[in-house]
Amino acid sequence: MTERIFNFSAGPAVLPVPVLERAREEMLSLPGVGMSVMEISHRSKPFQAILDGAEGGLRDLLGIPEGYRVLFLQGGASLQFSMIPINFLAPLASADYVLTGSWGKKALKEAKKHGATNVAADMADGQYTRVPSADELNLDPGAAYVHFTSNETIEGVEWKHDPEVGAVPLVCDASSNICSRPVDVSKYALIYAGAQKNLGPSGVTVVIVREDLLETIPANLHTMLDYRTHAENGSLYNTPNTWGIYILNLVCEWAREQGGLASIHQRNEEKARKIYDQIDATDFYRGHAAREARSNMNVTFRLPTEELEKRFATEATAAGLDGLKGHRSVGGIRASIYNAFPPAGVDALTQFMRDFERTNG
Ligand SMILES: *Cc1c(COP(=O)(O)O)cnc(C)c1O
Repeated sequence: MTERIFNFSAGPAVLPVPVLERAREEMLSLPGVGMSVMEISHRSKPFQAILDGAEGGLRDLLGIPEGYRVLFLQGGASLQFSMIPINFLAPLASADYVLTGSWGKKALKEAKKHGATNVAADMADGQYTRVPSADELNLDPGAAYVHFTSNETIEGVEWKHDPEVGAVPLVCDASSNICSRPVDVSKYALIYAGAQKNLGPSGVTVVIVREDLLETIPANLHTMLDYRTHAENGSLYNTPNTWGIYILNLVCEWAREQGGLASIHQRNEEKARKIYDQIDATDFYRGHAAREARSNMNVTFRLPTEELEKRFATEATAAGLDGLKGHRSVGGIRASIYNAFPPAGVDALTQFMRDFERTNG
C-alpha cells in the first residue's frame, strides 16, 4: 500500500504528514549529526536542543506561564493515575474525583489504593453523556486536589469550560484534547497527557505542574515516582523516550505553523460540526454525548442496530476509512478526529454516512 488512508484511530493516532516526512528525511542522519535521533546520547547537545525545543514548543502553544515545570515522562497517562495520589494525596487528606467517563474511573481506582477519595460527581446514571453542572459538583473544600478528565476519549464527552473548584488545586487528564484549543494553564495545578493522541507517538507523557506543588511532595518516595526527580533533572534522570520527544517537537512546530491553538480550535470545531450535523440530519444516527458536551476530538454515535454498526465499520474500512469501530466497552461508532486529522477525511466520512444510510436506512 502506498496511499495513506483516513485514520480515525483513537490512539495512537494520525500524525501530520509534514512531520512524518521530516522524520523520514532525518531518519538516517539528523542534520549536522550524522546519526539518527534514536542513536545519540540523551545527554548530547543535539538531543538537549530537541528537548528544549519540545518544551519551548509546548510553552509557546499553550501559553504556559512562569512557575510551571514541563516534564516528559514514561508509563503513559495511566502511570499518572498513580503518581498523582502518591505525590499529592497525603495520609490524612482526601482527593476529589469528577467522573465523566471510563478514564476518570480508572484514575479513581488507582487513587483509592493510595488514600481517601470523594467522588464529587459520577455521571454514570446518564451513561456518561454529559459533564456535571456547577451545582451537581459535591466538592470538598479541604480536598488535596480535584481530578477531572477534560475529554473522555471513549464516550466522546468533553468539558467546554474549566470546572470551578475555588482554591483547591485542579488536576486534569487532558490526554485526548491537549493542544486542541487554547487553555488558561494558570487555572490548573497539574495537566497531564499521553502524547499519542494529539502530540506524537506513544511512550511520552507530558506533565505540566505548578512549581509550588512540588514542595508539598513527601520525602522518601521511590525516585522514579517522585515528580521532583524529573523536575530537578530536566526529564533526564533516566533515559527518556528520545524518539517520542523528537516527534513531539516537530508536532509543536507544525501546530505553530497552523497558526497556533486558536486557529487549530476553529478548524477542529468545523470538522466536528460537519459530522454532528450529519448525525442530526435524520433519526438513523444517534449521537451518544449530550449536545453541550459533544467532543471535538472523538465523535461517538450509534446506528439503529448493532448489526448495522458492525456493517458500517467493516464497509468503512473497505472504503479507506479506518478505525471507526467504537471502544469495546460502549460499542457503536467512534470517529477520532484529532488536530492532524485532515478535513478531507471528514468529508469522506459524511459522504459515507449518507451513502450508508441510503442503502441501509
Ligand atoms: C488514552 C488515554 C489514557 C491512557 O493513556 P496511556 O498513555 O495509554 O496510559 C488516559 N486518559 C485519557 C483521557 C486517554 O484518552
